[in-house]
Amino acid sequence: MKLANVHHWVFDMDGTLTIATHDFPAIRRALEIPAEADILSHLAALPEVEAAPKRHWLLEHERELARAARPAPGACELLQELCARGYRLGMLTRNAHELAVMTLKVVGLDHCFASDDILGRDEALPKPDPCGLLHLARKWNVTPSDLVMVGDFRNDLECARAAGAYGILVNTPENLWPELADLYVRDCAELKRLIG
Ligand SMILES: [Mg+2]
Repeated sequence: MKLANVHHWVFDMDGTLTIATHDFPAIRRALEIPAEADILSHLAALPEVEAAPKRHWLLEHERELARAARPAPGACELLQELCARGYRLGMLTRNAHELAVMTLKVVGLDHCFASDDILGRDEALPKPDPCGLLHLARKWNVTPSDLVMVGDFRNDLECARAAGAYGILVNTPENLWPELADLYVRDCAELKRLIG
């Protein structure tokens, strides 16, 4: 894959475009979710009367995190470069759409994305399910293999792999999932250097 020629880029948000601040063990404790459980899947399986207040708590907690968001190293420069080239940018996040929009505003990247190219947990099944990525590919009229998915966690890479897209891992101290990552770069600054 010649990255400089890729015109369609999908990003994870938390920990990829922003400095990771979610304390997932603390969130699980606050919501009485077992330590090993996936938070969104766990909430989805609860009866609505139990799930609703927990979802509300999560949204408000994440709203505080969004207010204090800071960009990850090189993220603004990378996105501005892709934007300036006229490339299409999307986002696939397990966060909520309204908080993704708020976060992008806080870090100054909201002009890089069309609002309906930002898929949150209510617009698509959460990663690693590939449906959000496949939806963007259809919407943009490209094959999934023409898409790059950039993320900082194995969910992002599994999602890319399942969709047939090219998965790039960033912002981990080393390549934690070599069997899933098509490419590992230290951060978005290094990714920007690679696209020239
Ligand atoms: Mg992430």
